[in-house]
Amino acid sequence: MDKRTIALIGAPTDIGAAHRGASMAPEALRVAGIETALRRLGYPVKDLGNLTGPANPGAEPVGGYRHLGETAVWCRVVRDAVRPVIHAGHLPILLGGDHSLAIGSVAAIAAHCAERGTPLSVLWLDAHADFNSPDTTPTGNLHGMPVAIIAGHGPPPLTELGPARPMLDTSRIILLGVRSIDHVEKRMVMERGLEVYDMRRIDEDGMRKTMDDVLGRVAAVGGHLHVSLDVDFLDPSIAPGVGTTVSGGPTYREAQLCMEMIHDSRLMASLDIVELNPAFDVRNMTGTLVMELVESLFGEQILSRHHATL
Ligand code: MG
Ligand code: MG
Repeated sequence: MDKRTIALIGAPTDIGAAHRGASMAPEALRVAGIETALRRLGYPVKDLGNLTGPANPGAEPVGGYRHLGETAVWCRVVRDAVRPVIHAGHLPILLGGDHSLAIGSVAAIAAHCAERGTPLSVLWLDAHADFNSPDTTPTGNLHGMPVAIIAGHGPPPLTELGPARPMLDTSRIILLGVRSIDHVEKRMVMERGLEVYDMRRIDEDGMRKTMDDVLGRVAAVGGHLHVSLDVDFLDPSIAPGVGTTVSGGPTYREAQLCMEMIHDSRLMASLDIVELNPAFDVRNMTGTLVMELVESLFGEQILSRHHATL
């Protein structure tokens, strides 16, 4: 079994978010015991500590974007931290921070894959499509735009962080769990050809069939799978600790099954955990839940499965 070294990279910033607080998430995940849990599962773990970048100025949008310059610096810092980890053959887990930081991790991974001619797929677990533009966002918050930016639509300081523009063809980006998307954004997503498994699809097909389909698509191409987990993917009844809750998300068991199936596929080679906001959490319950989901993502088998086979 693949027990490659896992590198934890903290990016304590809420530079791209609507609410302050995601900057505290790396510590919340450490407090929840993420390193110990991964070690218990047999993985060597290196905690590389926290990256540093510009403070959140709390400024108004300029030209349709809030904190564009600061976000670009943070994403570059993330990119430059993820690259050597990937090059060393290790598996990076980015502990965000808000979802704009995924631009940096995908930029690093896309460059690595481009150099080696390895196909790259991104699985984006999120209540939102994150495909906004300055024309469609009322706030200018960049955490609502990373999928568009990765797909080549957005401000040059961010779209140019990758090896090419776009960093990744839209056909290689799969959105899962979407349930909040406005009309213009919806049209963009459809026109650009993103693969969207929204909550209705999960309701109708169930998580098992949905994930069979998602992972089958990824396996057909092979190569590197990057998973970007926005904690608001989860239903707010089990995960209140996010800035932008949207009801109607996956339940505890659906989320666990999703993670277990990703693990069983052996496809995932890098991970973002973003948008956890301890300021909105209740006794770190969301941090603890995320840690449990990460355990499943890395091979923890729940007791009920063992009972089922007895
Ligand atoms: Mg979201
Ligand atoms: Mg997001």
